[in-house]
Amino acid sequence: MSEQNFDVVVIGAGPGGYVAAIRAAQLGLKTACVEKRKTLGGTCLNVGCIPSKALLEISHKFHDAAHSFEKLGIAVSAPKIDVKKLLANKNEIVAGLTGGIAGLFKKNKVTSIEGAAKFLDKNTIEVTKSDGVKEKISAKNFIIATGSEVTNLPGAPIDEKVIVSSTGALDLEKVPGKMIVIGAGVIGLELGSVWGRFGAEIEVVEFLDKITPSMDAEVSRNFQRILEKQKFNFRLSTKVLSVKNDKNGVKLEVESVADGKKETLSADVVLVAIGRRPNTENLGLENAGVKTNSRGFIENNHLRTSVENIFVIGDVTTGAMLAHKAEDEGVAAAEIIAGQAGHVNYDVIPSVIYTYPEVACVGKTEEELKATSVAYKVGKFSMMANSRARATGDEQGFVKILSDAKTDRILGAHIIGREAGNTIHEVVVAMEFGGSAEDIARTCHAHPTYNEAVKEAALAVDKRQIHS
Ligand SMILES: Cc1cc2nc3c(=O)[nH]c(=O)nc-3n(C[C@H](O)[C@H](O)[C@H](O)COP(=O)(O)OP(=O)(O)OC[C@H]3O[C@@H](n4cnc5c(N)ncnc54)[C@H](O)[C@@H]3O)c2cc1C
Repeated sequence: MSEQNFDVVVIGAGPGGYVAAIRAAQLGLKTACVEKRKTLGGTCLNVGCIPSKALLEISHKFHDAAHSFEKLGIAVSAPKIDVKKLLANKNEIVAGLTGGIAGLFKKNKVTSIEGAAKFLDKNTIEVTKSDGVKEKISAKNFIIATGSEVTNLPGAPIDEKVIVSSTGALDLEKVPGKMIVIGAGVIGLELGSVWGRFGAEIEVVEFLDKITPSMDAEVSRNFQRILEKQKFNFRLSTKVLSVKNDKNGVKLEVESVADGKKETLSADVVLVAIGRRPNTENLGLENAGVKTNSRGFIENNHLRTSVENIFVIGDVTTGAMLAHKAEDEGVAAAEIIAGQAGHVNYDVIPSVIYTYPEVACVGKTEEELKATSVAYKVGKFSMMANSRARATGDEQGFVKILSDAKTDRILGAHIIGREAGNTIHEVVVAMEFGGSAEDIARTCHAHPTYNEAVKEAALAVDKRQIHS
């Protein structure tokens, strides 16, 4: 068994881990990154953000060609989907990006090690390669970035063919006649959109009485109405008791939360999308003395675990399970190890749902502000009154800005609209600088842009919007 020594070893090469490794190497630290997958990039690049966004974009184009072109004066014959080609294209996009990270590692002199890491003690890990060969690696510091995996639903055995997780839903061999999505969260609604646009009937079964429950309630209600117009059928306040696959498809036994009434639903494919859980199995945390909380997450204090020289970032620790949150934590952890401050502003982390239209949020919801008794003002502006949205036929949605009633400092922003995921970023930057609604309102915005709706919402905070 050979042994190597490093200043920093990062475990996991997802967006948290690979970014942490690059930043640590940039800071002059001798760095390695250990990854058990054959390809780098973690959940995000392999089976998450990137393949899902590729399929969302293609399915949106397909849907436009099938349903919108004629009205626009473009005559085409009914489009057909070639699922094999669709998946090959998606896989090519993924391969290009994961291969790019290998290039970034080389450029930044990060040693890339393939294999599964397990702590032997707080300064040593054992890496087991796919051929069974083991290697000992020691380091002054470790960054745990092992991410998350799909949460299983008891009674719903995932086979990734007909009872699928998000991973299987990115690789279906044909468009299902009917897909039932269990869980009305971001991943379920995005992947439901993909297959719905290709023609599948989509039914969403959700235990709670609303979709995307952590979202601003007004946004969530509007979003549900928009999805219903896209033929999403929501069965809320409904508990799934069991999911069984027989020769004629999948049968779900469900129960109403309100009155306990049971029903059996059938589908060709069932997507289980009830969340993700931290990935700490077989990591040997107990050998290093790293503690997890009751939900299995490794908690952190300024990204340090319960052990001084072991840091933790991304999905495996507490906080939003988002790629950009993991990346920012990766940079901060590397900087702390290098003796710098290392900081993540958890109050300003945007989140985006890449449906059509997109939904983007940053900062506080109205419900959160009500609960804290902070006096706030609300400015809203409808996309119906935004000239770019009218020009492109994307009038659904609105911008809502929440600002402090006394100081006008922006506390939150919520947008439904085409490209909301891009549009939100001017508010994100404004919030990072402690900006006010008036700062945005007095900033010149190019015409015609979707961002003008943000400016109008900022003006509307003081009831002086121009275009409505
Ligand atoms: C379908 C889907 C769509 C998503 N879309 C978005 C989106 O649009 N935007 C967004 O911000 N987020 C999105 N996410 C969430 C995002 O993918 C995660 O938040 C992000 O990948 C977390 O990064 P991470 O580095 O913490 O962990 P991961 O990306 O999960 O990477 C962890 C890596 O660690 C490796 N690993 C685990 N254990 C070991 C071990 N013992 N030894 C060696 N390696 C190990 C794993 O193989 C994995 O590659 C999506 C997720 C899914 C599933």
